[in-house]
Amino acid sequence: IDAFVIGEGEEVIHDILDTYKAWRAAGTSREDLLWRLAQIWGVYVPRFYEPRYAPDGVFAGMTRRDPSLPFPIIKRIVPKLPPPPTRLIVPFISTVHSRFPIEIMRGCTRGCRYCHAGMVVRPVRERSVEEIVTAIEEGLRYTGFEEIGLLSLSSSDYSQILPLVQEVVRRFGQRHISISLPSLRIETFSVELMEALGTTRRRGFTLAPEAATERMRRIINKPISSEQLMETVREIYRRGWTTVKLYFMMGLPGETEDDVRAIAELARAVLREGRRVLGGRAKVHASVSTFVPKPHTPFQWATLDTMEAIRTKQALLRREMRGRGLKLSLNDPRESMVEAWLSRGDRRLAEVIYRAWQLGAKFDAWNDHLAYDAWLQAFREAGLDPHFYVHRPRPIDEPFPWDHISIGVTRQYLTQDYLWSQEGRTRIDCRQRCFACGILPTFNALRYEHPGDYWKCPEIKRPPKRVPFVRGPVLREMALATDEG
Ligand code: SF4
Repeated sequence: IDAFVIGEGEEVIHDILDTYKAWRAAGTSREDLLWRLAQIWGVYVPRFYEPRYAPDGVFAGMTRRDPSLPFPIIKRIVPKLPPPPTRLIVPFISTVHSRFPIEIMRGCTRGCRYCHAGMVVRPVRERSVEEIVTAIEEGLRYTGFEEIGLLSLSSSDYSQILPLVQEVVRRFGQRHISISLPSLRIETFSVELMEALGTTRRRGFTLAPEAATERMRRIINKPISSEQLMETVREIYRRGWTTVKLYFMMGLPGETEDDVRAIAELARAVLREGRRVLGGRAKVHASVSTFVPKPHTPFQWATLDTMEAIRTKQALLRREMRGRGLKLSLNDPRESMVEAWLSRGDRRLAEVIYRAWQLGAKFDAWNDHLAYDAWLQAFREAGLDPHFYVHRPRPIDEPFPWDHISIGVTRQYLTQDYLWSQEGRTRIDCRQRCFACGILPTFNALRYEHPGDYWKCPEIKRPPKRVPFVRGPVLREMALATDEG
């Protein structure tokens, strides 16, 4: 890959096109184009950065080829979400998500420790109800879709969610347009929201507790009490939904066999609750995936379960979750391995990916096309150990191959959060209390220029003294303290 855009694309695409046009006019070399692109805020050109490895093969750091290059490469963000696209290409084949999607909010303030998007897509910025409704009106006119998807990482956290839902139903409810509202929190308010949408097909209601014990939910910073969960479930069945879908992860840091067994117990408890309300019609569908530790999250130091451990836990769940009304879905552990290699690899993985592709790994996300042996052979040929990347415990100060990419959230914050997880300490929604994750010092100038409630981070009252970057296509100064080397 010649160049990556790190972060949000809406503005940087213009800078890239301007740079490309200027380069064409100058008639200089391809290398010069890449050099020019590397100066744009949010563009990463790997060839100008050299990785170093220790004799034992552990990644030791990244060096830029020239001091004028940005280091770290700070992700690009837009200070204000641009108007939502409304003239979308409408496929003439049937697609899974055949609907008009609209992003109501970007980012999430909950800080779930396993969640890549929750850390990477900060700060939280919201669109206004009026802007969303106008865009839906236009979008439906141009596309003819019969379903609207109100999208975000955590829809119930959108500050105007109830007024939005009411307005959308008022404007579009009569036109036989259905409205979907995914990513709802586990609280009875979510059930009220779904009811406000006037959903008539009440089959499945999805909840994602992710872990089945309160202890584990504190570790992952999703501290929902079991009481709150059961109350929500009761309300779901009471209002006529017949199936509760539960999403869990196994293999999370600090998990014991009891925590895995608790998944089955919780699923059975939810079914019992459903039976009390609906009798034999109540169903539970539990989907249990394997946790893959992701870069730029507090769990980036964690390990992936071995294949053997995953299989043992899956067998336990299969044994414990038999019976009428209970359905269990598990993922193929080999898929988790591939996902983890791709998530956690360094540049040496490039050879493995290319070779695996040559050997037939093409549509690996479709289980029947997963070419696992091709991956293992590619690792062997490259002289790399697949376990090294995913099962090796990492010391807290080990450099990561992604440290030169800055998402705004600091390594210091992630480290503290990881250590907190080991003590079972949680953080509240950072809209209520800012935990100084690093976003504000990184984007202080943008926040200063965009005061008010639009961003969910605290305001900056005085003009910032240190500006990490100069806005615009050319990045002239990097005053941000970095730990290069
Ligand atoms: S700067 Fe504070 S409010 Fe903003 S995302 Fe980070 S912790 Fe949350």
